Amino acid sequence: MIIAIASGKGGTGKTLVSTNLFQVSLDDRVDVVLVDCDAEEPNDAVFLPGEPKGMQTVTQQMPVIDKAVCTYCGRCHDWCSYNAIFFLREPRRIDVLEDLCHDCGACLAACKVGAITEKTVPIGTLSMRYINKRPALIEGRTLVGTASPVKIIKQAISEAGKHDLVILDAPPGISCPFIATVEPADYVVLVTEPTPFGLNDLALSIETLEQMGKPHGVVVNRAGLGDEALYRWLVDKGVLQLADIPFDRAIASVYAEGKLVVKVLPAYKPVFQTLLDRIRAQAHPSTIA
Ligand code: SF4
Ligand code: SF4
Repeated sequence: MIIAIASGKGGTGKTLVSTNLFQVSLDDRVDVVLVDCDAEEPNDAVFLPGEPKGMQTVTQQMPVIDKAVCTYCGRCHDWCSYNAIFFLREPRRIDVLEDLCHDCGACLAACKVGAITEKTVPIGTLSMRYINKRPALIEGRTLVGTASPVKIIKQAISEAGKHDLVILDAPPGISCPFIATVEPADYVVLVTEPTPFGLNDLALSIETLEQMGKPHGVVVNRAGLGDEALYRWLVDKGVLQLADIPFDRAIASVYAEGKLVVKVLPAYKPVFQTLLDRIRAQAHPSTIA
């Protein structure tokens, strides 16, 4: 089972939920791996001990245009869905806009005179952390200056391989990195907070997941803060509320110290255990007793 922990905006508690769910799964002797897909600012490793091992470089193929061979027909520009080829017929100008290139290869196929070749460029890294000699955390990290982390995210998820449970800590927002993370998930947990900002961004995330046909539920973090509008909206929309995590200064302190709430504040362990049980029941409805 693959579950993605996501949120419409940053700072809602996605990492808090991901890392503590991982720990209760581990305590439950589940074969679990956590993948930090927030490749532009990964931080799950702060909460898990151990040195990273097996660092890999993630690369992408970048087209290179030989202007001496190019006939300036414009086919590569027309075929590129990402506007990554700057083209002017008169005066003759052509260039690859590397920040926009998605490594799809369409321009290579489009060019009939062989003016386009490819170079390999590094865009990020993958590292693995182990607990008790078993893979526990895979971290994707973009190199500074890399425009899109999507390929790094996809490679990190693929590196996780098959386990009873794979937890994906998604990047915030609803753009391509979010889509790349939730796409392979069997179930998506959206973490929000009961504030107008939280509700606004949750609504956008749910709209996106509905278009993708992804089953989902909501965890309300910092419950007790803000107002009741979020709860009313969830009821009106018929969205399942999976758990409430209270607005508690003790949780914030433990998190700020880079520690796991389920280890330091055992009174909160049942909250995450119940959340895990509810996610399992939702992702595999046929197993509900
Ligand atoms: S590889 Fe794809 S995205 Fe990149 S320039 Fe060529 S067509 Fe555009
Ligand atoms: S398809 Fe080839 S020949 Fe035509 S503009 Fe692109 S690089 Fe030049």
